[in-house]
Amino acid sequence: MAAMSEPSFRESVDMMFNRAVQVMDLSPGLEQKIRVCNSTYTVRFGVRLRGKIETFVGYRSVHSEHMEPVKGGIRYATSVNQDEVEALAALMTYKCALVETPFGGSKGGLCIDPTQYEEHELEQITRRFAYELIKRDLINPSQNVPAPDMGTGEREMAWIVDQYQRMNTTDINARACVTGKPLNGDGIQGRVEATGRGVQYALREFFRHPEDRAKAGLSGTLDGKRVVVQGLGNVGYHAALFLSTEDGARVTGIVERDGGLWSEDGLDVEAVRQWLVAHGGIKDYPGATYVEKGATLLEAECDILVPAAMEGVINLANAHRIQAPLIAEAANGPITFGADEILRARGKVIIPDLYANAGGVTVSYFEWVKNLTHIRFGRLERRREEARHQLLVDELERLSADRGWQLSPTFKSQYLRGADELELVRSGLDDTMRSAYGEMRALWHGREDIADLRIAAFVVAIDRVAKAYRSKGL
Ligand code: NAD
Repeated sequence: MAAMSEPSFRESVDMMFNRAVQVMDLSPGLEQKIRVCNSTYTVRFGVRLRGKIETFVGYRSVHSEHMEPVKGGIRYATSVNQDEVEALAALMTYKCALVETPFGGSKGGLCIDPTQYEEHELEQITRRFAYELIKRDLINPSQNVPAPDMGTGEREMAWIVDQYQRMNTTDINARACVTGKPLNGDGIQGRVEATGRGVQYALREFFRHPEDRAKAGLSGTLDGKRVVVQGLGNVGYHAALFLSTEDGARVTGIVERDGGLWSEDGLDVEAVRQWLVAHGGIKDYPGATYVEKGATLLEAECDILVPAAMEGVINLANAHRIQAPLIAEAANGPITFGADEILRARGKVIIPDLYANAGGVTVSYFEWVKNLTHIRFGRLERRREEARHQLLVDELERLSADRGWQLSPTFKSQYLRGADELELVRSGLDDTMRSAYGEMRALWHGREDIADLRIAAFVVAIDRVAKAYRSKGL
C-alpha cells in the first residue's frame, strides 16, 4: 500500500499537470481553468434485491467540456470514490487531447463489488444507475458518452444503451450514447481488444527508435523481451497476449489479486486467462511458480513492466525497488507522483498512461462515428477496392505471361482482399498511436526542459485544450 505521505490520486494527477505547465506559457487563470474538474454528480439510489432495499453510490464527473460530448468509462469497484473519478476524468481530458479524439474528459463509477451479485441483479442496478445519469444528460450521444472500465464490459454497455433507448424512443442517434457495446448491438470490431492492442502499438513504436530504446538501456526489438504484467483483465490480457503471440515477447510474470505467477520460459497467457476465468484466481495454475505476495513480482528483474490493473500500485513504498528499465502504464495512474520522481531519478523510462492506454478511447471514437453515420466502416468501398486490385493483378499477369513470371499466391490473396472493419480499426489505431508518439517524442528529444515522455504528453495535451478554450474567447 502507498505510504502515508502519498498524495491522493487526483492530487497526483494535478501535480503531474503542474510539472507540465511550468514549462508552458499559459496565463495562471487559464491554467487553473484547465486543471479543475468542472463538476461531479453524486447519486445515491436504492434497488430492491433479495427482499430488501440496498443503497448504492455512483458518480459521473465531467472534467472539461472544451469539446463535447465528454467521454470516459464507467468503473465498478468498491474503491470508487469522488477523488478517483475526478482523477480519471482529468486523465480522460488529456488523453483525448493527446490522441486527437474530439471529446472532453469525463469518468463515472459505481461503488460496488460486482462479483457479489447475480447477473439479473447487476442488470437491475446498472439500469437504475443509467436512468439517474440519462435523466441529467450525463449519458447522451451529444453530451456525455461512457465506455467500459474496470469491472464493466460489453454486457453493461448493452444494458445502458437499451435503457437510453427506452427513455429516448425517437432519438435516431441513441446507439451512440455509449461505446464498447457488443458487436451485435452496434458495437465495432476491435473495441474489446483496443486498449491492450494500443499498448502493443505503443511499445512497437517505442522500439522503432534506437535513441529511445537506448534511454532505457534496451536494444533490439520486442522479440525475446521479458515482460511482467499486473492485472489479467481486459487491458492486461490483450496486451500480454499480443506481445507474446505476435511480437515474440516472453511474459515471465503475471500478477493478479490472489498472487503472482512466474516462469523464466514465459507463461502461456491464454492458458492463464482461461484458468483465471474458470477458477476466479490464478493460484494452483500448473506449470509456473506461484508467489503469494504477487505485488513483489512488480519488483522482479524484467525488461518491460506493464501495470494493467489499477492506480497507485507503484508508490513511495516500492518505487526504489522496481528493476524494469521500461514501464508501460496500461492502467490509469499506476505510478504515483512521488514514485514517478524516484523512477525518473533512477533513469527508468515510463510510457505514460494518457498515451499508453489511449487505444480504448480511440476505438470508442471510431464506434461513436460508426453509430452516428449508421454504416459499418468499409461497407461502401471494400468491393470496389478489391475490383481495382483485381484489374491490376490481371494486367500484371497478362504482361508477364510470355516471360513465365508469376505472382506468388500469398501476395495475390493478401493484395486482392479489401480491408474489413477490423483491419480498418487496427489501421486507424496504429496511425493514432504512431502520430501521438511522434508528437511526444519531438518534445522529449527537442527541448531540454522536457525530460520525459509524461511531461511531453501533458504539454501536447494541455496545449490543445488551451487552444480550444482560447478559440472560445477564454
Ligand atoms: P478489468 O476489470 O477488466 O481487469 C482488471 C484486472 O486487474 C482484473 O483481472 C483484476 O482481478 C486485476 N486486479 C485488480 N486489482 C488488482 C491488484 N491490486 N493486483 C493485481 N491484480 C489486480 O479492468 P480493465 O478494463 O482491464 O482496466 C484495467 C486498468 O486499465 C484500469 O486502470 C482502467 O482504468 C484502465 N483502462 C481501461 C480501459 C478499457 O478499455 N477497459 C481503457 C483505458 C484504461
